[in-house]
Amino acid sequence: MKKGVKCLWVIALAAVLSSCCGEPQAKYVFYLIGDGMGVNQVMGTEQYNQATGKGPAEVNFAHFPVRGFVTTVSASSLVTDSAAGGTALSSGVKTYNSAIGVNSDTVAVSSVADWAHMAGAGVAIITSVGVNHATPACFYAHTEKRKNYETIASQLIATPVDFAAGGGFITESKTGHSGSYFEDLAREAGIKVFHGPSFDGVSAEKGRVICLSGKDESDLPYAIDRKEGDTSLSDLVSAGIDYMEENFSQKGFFMMVEGGKIDYAGHSQDAATCFQELSDFANAIDLVLAFYERHPKQTLLVVSADHETGGLMLGAGKYEINPERLAAQKGSKDALTTLFRSTFFPEGQSYKTPSWEEVKAFFARELGLWESVAVSKSAEAHLKDIYDQTFGKNGNKDLGETNLYSVNSKLVSEAVICLDNAAGFKWSYGSHSGSPVGLYVKGAGQEAFVTVKDNTEIAPTIAKLTGWK
Ligand SMILES: [Zn+2]
Repeated sequence: MKKGVKCLWVIALAAVLSSCCGEPQAKYVFYLIGDGMGVNQVMGTEQYNQATGKGPAEVNFAHFPVRGFVTTVSASSLVTDSAAGGTALSSGVKTYNSAIGVNSDTVAVSSVADWAHMAGAGVAIITSVGVNHATPACFYAHTEKRKNYETIASQLIATPVDFAAGGGFITESKTGHSGSYFEDLAREAGIKVFHGPSFDGVSAEKGRVICLSGKDESDLPYAIDRKEGDTSLSDLVSAGIDYMEENFSQKGFFMMVEGGKIDYAGHSQDAATCFQELSDFANAIDLVLAFYERHPKQTLLVVSADHETGGLMLGAGKYEINPERLAAQKGSKDALTTLFRSTFFPEGQSYKTPSWEEVKAFFARELGLWESVAVSKSAEAHLKDIYDQTFGKNGNKDLGETNLYSVNSKLVSEAVICLDNAAGFKWSYGSHSGSPVGLYVKGAGQEAFVTVKDNTEIAPTIAKLTGWK
C-alpha cells in the first residue's frame, strides 16, 4: 500500500471512530435565530451596509462554511408562526401555529435545551424581545397558546434555565401584573435579577440569573432607535458568554440567541430598521465568534430563522436597487410615529393644521424624501391624499395603521413604504411568508448540517454532535 493511501485510510478510520464511538464533537453550542430573517433580509442588509456604511459590508454568518436552506411549514399551515416555527427549531417536532413546546395533540415535547440540561450542560436563553415571547419560550415552556404569557413566565422561573436574558417579562392585561411582578417571583425562587445596560458581576454568580433591560418595555429598542443607556442584544450576549464560560467551561453549554425584532420590522414593513436590526444580531454573533476563536475545536454555531416576515423583495419593479436612498432614515416607523404625533398632535395643546409643505419638510428631515430621494408624482399624490385625510376639513385626526406589534401613523407608515420602494425594496404584506430560510453553520461537526433541509432536523443534529440525547 502506498504511504499516501495508508495515511488517508487512517484519517478515514479516525473520523468514523470519533463520530460513532468517540468523544462528542461539540461541547459549546450557539443556536442563533433571526426571527423573520429570510434570505432577502440577509442579502438586503449587505446591500444596505455596503451602500450606507451603517454596518459591516459582509454579514458574518452569511459567509459561514456550511450554508443551505430549511423549509419552515408547520403542522397546521404552509405558513408557520413563531410558536410552531420555534417548536420545530427547538424540539424537532412539527406542531400547529401558536403551540409552544407541545405537539399537535398538545402533549409537551422536550427541547434541545432540556437535552443539554439533562446531560449536565448549562443552558442560556437570550432574546432582544420579552424573555417569555414565542421563540425563547419554545426552548423551556409548554403551553397550548403562545399568548399564555404569564404561564410561560412562570415556567421560565420554574425551569432550570441557568441564564435567561431579554428586554423584560411580557404580562397579560387581564391580570394587571407588571413585569416587575415576575422579577419578584424570580427573586423569591432564588434567581438573581440584573438590569442593564451593564451587567457587571453576572459572571461571578454561581446560581441562576436573569438579565433584563430594566426599562418598562419588554422588548429592547430597535437598533436604529437605540440611545445612550439602552441595553443592546450584544450587552446580553456578552454577559451570557461571560457567565457560561465561568460556570460551564467543564460541562459545556447550550446558548440560544434570538434577534427578535428583525421580525417586528418586517411586520411593520420598514427596510432600514430591519437591516439595522439584522446587523445588530450579527454584531452579537461577533461576540460568539470571539468565543469560537478561544475554543475552535469544541464550539458550534448554527444560525437560522423560524420563517420569513414581510415577503421582502429585492427590486421594486425596475431592474435596480438603490439602497443608499435609505441612508437618511433616522428612526424606525415606531419612533417616527412618536415624533410625528408629538410634532403635529401635541398632547393637550391646540395646534394649527400644518401645511402640506410643513409635513413634507418633516419627511425630508427624517427620511430624506424630496431631499436626497426623489418622490414620483404618483407617490406624492398618494401621500398627499393621506395628508388630506389626516388634516381634513373636519379637524385633525391621526390615522392609525395597525401591524402585529404597533399602531403607526398611516402617513408615517406610507412615507416609509414610499422610501423603501424608491430604494428598490418592496414588502409584499405585513405578515409571515412560507419561504424557506437560510441555514448557516460553522464549527465543530459543521459537515453534519450539509444534508439538513427542514427546520425539524436542526435540533436532533445538534443532539447527535453533542451527545446530549
Ligand atoms: Zn417568528
